[in-house]
Amino acid sequence: MRKIGALEAGGTKMVLGIFTEAGEELDRLTLPTLTPDETIPSMRVFFDQHAVDALGIASFGPVSLDPAAPDYGSVTSTPKPGWRDYPLLSALRGERAIPCAFDTDVNAAALAEAEMGAAKGLTDAVYVTVGTGIGGGIFSGGMLVHGLLHPEIGHMLLRPHPDDPNPHGVCPYHDGCVEGLASGPALGARFGDAKNLPDDHLAFMLEADYLAQMCVNLILTVSPKMIILGGGVMQRSVLFPLIRARTVELLNGYVQSPAILKHIDEYIVPPALYPISGLWGAYLLGKKVLQEQ
Ligand code: ADP
Ligand code: ZN
Repeated sequence: MRKIGALEAGGTKMVLGIFTEAGEELDRLTLPTLTPDETIPSMRVFFDQHAVDALGIASFGPVSLDPAAPDYGSVTSTPKPGWRDYPLLSALRGERAIPCAFDTDVNAAALAEAEMGAAKGLTDAVYVTVGTGIGGGIFSGGMLVHGLLHPEIGHMLLRPHPDDPNPHGVCPYHDGCVEGLASGPALGARFGDAKNLPDDHLAFMLEADYLAQMCVNLILTVSPKMIILGGGVMQRSVLFPLIRARTVELLNGYVQSPAILKHIDEYIVPPALYPISGLWGAYLLGKKVLQEQ
């Protein structure tokens, strides 16, 4: 029986899984993300113990995804101590001559949701996580989008809301990007820890406006058949009806699709595989390279 090692590498934790080709999960390990020196050896031991035949890695970013680039498989400009320009893929592969696949955590999540989750059977879907950061993966025409680097949906620029007490947001790079305005820390910078706020707080009206602006921009550029919103902030389920209504309002009748006009409740949806969409995506990436071998 061939085994696939899967890793969802996050800024706070590493989730590792061992899967059969058919998708049966044989083992799981979760580790805190410390420095590479503290974290990588335990991950290597886990994959070694299971003698995996392929590896699929879904990583926090930004990452280098161009197989022709010398730094392919590296985490690039992260502020996380020790991880800047760190060659994650080669550190995990080591001397093992096994096929490996590497992509962003959110592309992997988009793949998993499209192949086996909320968007099962659809060729076009976007997955966005709204948590400590905001990031998105795009599945388009049955393929994950990479392009020049990889999509950075979290840094899309938005129009500030007139009632926002912090309209520039908290992103160190951009004035008014999605992550700066709508991540958990952005909510926290305005009104304190979002987890403690009531559903009808202004915080969530602003949040819904910003995430609806993001959805509108995605609809108008990528033309997805479904938008999946996951992550910690989206556990505040009151956001879904607010975002859907605001998205329809902002589109203002321009997109004449029943998916938007009649079935918005099934168009902007939570993930089916939360909180391990990314791990399932890593498994799918690993399975694909194993079977292509
Ligand atoms: P990460 O992005 O680090 O992987 P999560 O996706 O779990 O982690 O997101 C964590 C963020 O989600 C935190 O900023 C937290 O304040 C926020 N969050 C978690 N639960 C809620 C909630 N019920 N309402 C609003 N924000 C929440
Ligand atoms: Zn930004």
